[in-house]
Amino acid sequence: MKKEKYNIGIMGATGLVGREFLEILEERKFPTAELYLFASENSLGETIKFKGEDYIVDALKEDSFEKKKIDIVLSSPGGSVSSKFAPIAAKEGAVVIDNTSYFRMDEDVPLVVPEVNPEDIKYYSNKNIIANPNCSTIQMVVPLKPIHDRYKIKRIIVSTYQSTSGAGKRAMDELFYQTTGIINAKGDIYPEKFPVQIAFNCIPQIDVFSEDGYTKEEIKMVRETQKIMHDKNIAVSATTVRVPVFFSHGESVNIETEKNFDIKDIKRILSETGGVKIIDNVLSANPEERYPYQTYAAGKDEVFVGRIRKDFSIPNGLNLWIVADNVRKGAALNAVQIAEILIQKFL
Ligand code: NAP
Repeated sequence: MKKEKYNIGIMGATGLVGREFLEILEERKFPTAELYLFASENSLGETIKFKGEDYIVDALKEDSFEKKKIDIVLSSPGGSVSSKFAPIAAKEGAVVIDNTSYFRMDEDVPLVVPEVNPEDIKYYSNKNIIANPNCSTIQMVVPLKPIHDRYKIKRIIVSTYQSTSGAGKRAMDELFYQTTGIINAKGDIYPEKFPVQIAFNCIPQIDVFSEDGYTKEEIKMVRETQKIMHDKNIAVSATTVRVPVFFSHGESVNIETEKNFDIKDIKRILSETGGVKIIDNVLSANPEERYPYQTYAAGKDEVFVGRIRKDFSIPNGLNLWIVADNVRKGAALNAVQIAEILIQKFL
């Protein structure tokens, strides 16, 4: 018999993504029975509100999932913590939806964006784990998938403008304190979460470099796009850049398709794509109608697409500007959407 409510666990509950999970579960009226919150030892005993009630945060331990009958674990405690604890939760019978990069390229773990490849959710039972893609990949594939289905994308060149929240709460603090410190001419800059000063700066490095000169973030965008779109032949080249913005990532995306397209048809396809909103009236007197931008997308669910135009330098080229809230659609919302499909179809 189908359950009416589900026991939910959250790993990394005190983090940016963890808190957003709670907000979105509440907003979308997810049928929650018991709720268990886990974080590091540092947060033991902290309380977090959910639906008006206080929940106490527990330190994540090997026996955290025993005898609790947790149905779904929403996980965002960082890759190394997930690598250890996601399999433990899965063994205790929970389906883990993991936001870290650890399981994404595991062949037995589906990597899912509900608007793009919801059919892959059924493979959750291989390991009782589903991976949530990287934030910059999610917002790119949502509008590109229907264009690929119709016109077959051969090549994607993407440059990102990624906010500091993508690196967690301490990274946002670093931008805040450096900015106020510089404005008030107080204190030296001590970069910790970022390799160099982030205030009033753009840093062409997200994650560590590999030997071929690309960062891990760039490599994630290539491999994850191919896995989610089920097409190893899509060529992807990424340059990922951190910008001094608190929320939402922007992406300049250039694509080349196999078939010839009319720009009107691209706009029609995108206007009919779930989860996408076009803002592309560059001549409007109202700047909010001209194009999407980071402060506009922050706190919203949609992936916004603007600056839709032909790339005249090649026969079938297209340029797009794509913006989305990385903590919502890029992480927590995407995971909760997966959980909604899980309970509708499988649990
Ligand atoms: P964050 O704000 O730094 O939060 C990290 C969370 O993990 C906190 O709740 C922290 O607990 C917990 N944690 C750290 N060490 C732990 C341990 N040993 N045991 C248990 N819990 C531990 O980071 P975030 O932005 O939420 O990101 C979390 C994960 O999601 C990362 O893997 C990140 O790559 C991924 N992700 C983030 C985004 C984004 O936009 N931020 C998007 C997609 C994916 P304490 O508070 O107790 O330290």
